[in-house]
Amino acid sequence: MADAMKRLKAILAEVTDIQRAGAVLDWDQETYMPPGGIQNRADQASTLSEVAHRRFTSDEVGLLIEEAETAVSNEPFDSDDASIVRVTRRDYELDRKLPPELVAEIAHAGSAARPHWQRARKEAKFEIFAPYLQRAVELNQRVAEALGYEKRPYDALLNRTEPGLTTDQLEAIFEELRTAIVPLVAGIARHADTVDDSVLHRGFDPDKQVKYALETVVKLGYDLERGRQDISTHPFSIAFGPGDVRITTRVNRDFFNECLFGSIHEAGHGMYFQGIGRNIDRTPLWDGASPGVHESQSRLLRETFSEPLRGVEAEAFYRAVNKSYPSFIRVEADEVTYNLHVLLRFELENDMLEGKLKVNDVPEAWNELFKSYFGLDVPNDREGALQDIHWSFIGFAEFPGYTLGNIISAQFMEKIRAEMPDLDSQIGRGEFGPLLRWLQENVYQHGRKFTPNELVERVTGHPISPKPWIAYVRKKFGALYGLESVKA
Ligand code: ZN
Repeated sequence: MADAMKRLKAILAEVTDIQRAGAVLDWDQETYMPPGGIQNRADQASTLSEVAHRRFTSDEVGLLIEEAETAVSNEPFDSDDASIVRVTRRDYELDRKLPPELVAEIAHAGSAARPHWQRARKEAKFEIFAPYLQRAVELNQRVAEALGYEKRPYDALLNRTEPGLTTDQLEAIFEELRTAIVPLVAGIARHADTVDDSVLHRGFDPDKQVKYALETVVKLGYDLERGRQDISTHPFSIAFGPGDVRITTRVNRDFFNECLFGSIHEAGHGMYFQGIGRNIDRTPLWDGASPGVHESQSRLLRETFSEPLRGVEAEAFYRAVNKSYPSFIRVEADEVTYNLHVLLRFELENDMLEGKLKVNDVPEAWNELFKSYFGLDVPNDREGALQDIHWSFIGFAEFPGYTLGNIISAQFMEKIRAEMPDLDSQIGRGEFGPLLRWLQENVYQHGRKFTPNELVERVTGHPISPKPWIAYVRKKFGALYGLESVKA
């Protein structure tokens, strides 16, 4: 029996190594690879995914899981071995349902679509990307059918990204958010002149910005002995194991927020990775609990960082970086409107998967929803349906993670403030250590041991809820814009 556990861990380590090698290639593709490398890279990505998938879904692994389940049956739920077996069982059941050919096709289609999406976006021509989006929809439909679902295809996809959450539960969360946000956005629009952010657009030397951003994230706790920062079109973070966790950023001379807050956001992800226990390295537990929980860590870090800017001389700067206004681009959106961007994508993805929306009609549907939430006319598809990279790598059901991140970070923050009443003064003195240790202890170290619902319940004592986030934005933006009158 003990042998089964040992043998199972050896195979899981191999699978992890193959996936991490694939991750190094992804990082290279987004940072330094010349454009001509794309075809070779698509082949490599596809081969590695298929090899890892075949290894993981073998009959042997199934037998070993069964034996290991008996071996750990008396261990506590949160012990390393019981958790490894439980999470491996869940992943195994899902992956076994996906034919290796489909996994390889998805990896290949994802790499191959990227340059067409880039060109479509550059030229603002949706028709260039449309056939690839069509393919993404079909592949996701095949995944949903293979995995199976009771009510809606989105449930099948969501079960892989945010295990335990359902489409219905998300719809209820979004409805509560929409009801709270739309009047707040309108209130802010009536007081738009209250906040001046011209200071952020005065022109800042790009090299200095990148250097300052890196110095800042190191102060926050991002470990450069086990990390580095590069430049990419879309900022991201990626981990090859506890000893190598990288982040990227981008820089804009005329908008100060992009580089600094991009770096801080990615460092939030990076510090989460760097804090996952080495005891669960090279197992399926060594990752964030889910994209949603991952996002909560990057958002929490950014929020914490802007707090000390509230000092007297920095007050104007604090106000400027927090200016709220509806914008076309999700990644540039302010805290208030951000979740509406996600809601729009969540609705369109559901409609595409359920065959209610044809790919060619996506730009029109996008622009209509945008108008109804933000009151703005989308000028072109670059600032509309072509702006996000996700659909180009076949990623559906990933956007809700951003909203879950927002609401979970507010739930964690409420708990942190209750346990560390002097948090603001610590941060004002540049002391991030105690906060980092709290996150390490309560969140980082566990990796994927718990589902998002289990983790939030365990840390805060409550289920996932948008209420603390709604209270937070009302208080913060009510004060910034002088909106005493914003009510439910
Ligand atoms: Zn993120």
